[in-house]
Amino acid sequence: MIIATTPAEATAQVSAWKKEGLSVGLVPTMGYLHEGHLSLITRAVAENDRVVVSVFVNPTQFGPNEDFESYPRDFAADSALCESAGVHLVFHPQPEDMYFADASTTITAAGVSEQLCGKSRPIHFGGVCTVVNKLMNISQATRAYFGQKDAQQLAVIRRMVRDLNMNVEVVGCPIIREADGLAKSSRNTYLSAEERQAALCLSRAVREGQRLMEEGQRDASAILGAMRALIEAEPLARIDYVDMVTWDSIQPCERAEGPVLVAMAVYIGKTRLIDNFIFPKP
Ligand code: AMP
Repeated sequence: MIIATTPAEATAQVSAWKKEGLSVGLVPTMGYLHEGHLSLITRAVAENDRVVVSVFVNPTQFGPNEDFESYPRDFAADSALCESAGVHLVFHPQPEDMYFADASTTITAAGVSEQLCGKSRPIHFGGVCTVVNKLMNISQATRAYFGQKDAQQLAVIRRMVRDLNMNVEVVGCPIIREADGLAKSSRNTYLSAEERQAALCLSRAVREGQRLMEEGQRDASAILGAMRALIEAEPLARIDYVDMVTWDSIQPCERAEGPVLVAMAVYIGKTRLIDNFIFPKP
């Protein structure tokens, strides 16, 4: 397994593979890898001749009061996991390797970026689009893999790839959960034992929302009201949003007439967690 730390090193290796006619799967991550990431990597390994995993905590997608500095990092463990999963190249740059000090170009996906997390994290998806575009270019990816855990991100990336005629197939992968339902996340390491228990209110709300929709409920306020009540019953939880939008255009919707994304962001203590479901299941 090759570890590349600069775009030039990664591109040189990938160019050699592309000359041989090999396909390349890209899995962009911020590291501190867990079974959620591993599910994307395993699928990429199964579907491509070569697999590139990027491990990069991207500063431009964090707001000024967010957790860029404290975000968990363990590159030794990440590269060991990648090696055992059959990854061919890990791309692990530093911010100064990725961004020119006088960079002029960024990418914004309007519309899809404005609801849900876009409301409380106004610069987040611009940072995500720009870095993912760069990673796709550096890796010359045939396919790129994203988790439905970050469903709005998946929709934003699909929109960018469509709008800019990018020659890469975006593959969405299901949410991987702990045995008790909590969606796996690198940020779960922030939780104390008490908060870890409290965090179960997110997946409980997801199951309640799914149950109501399976029973035929289509009214957003009825579904979201029942979900909010479950979260509000948890004293350590504070809702950022619980909302329903159209899938995958991420527009407000009051009734689920077509496919919808029901998504939430909830603070458990100081830790902001997200969870969601798409109905009907994609
Ligand atoms: P991150 O390192 O948090 O930026 O995540 C990198 C990729 O892994 C994103 O496409 C995430 O959606 C995906 N991912 C993270 N957690 C999970 C999970 N629990 N299930 C499925 N995919 C996940």
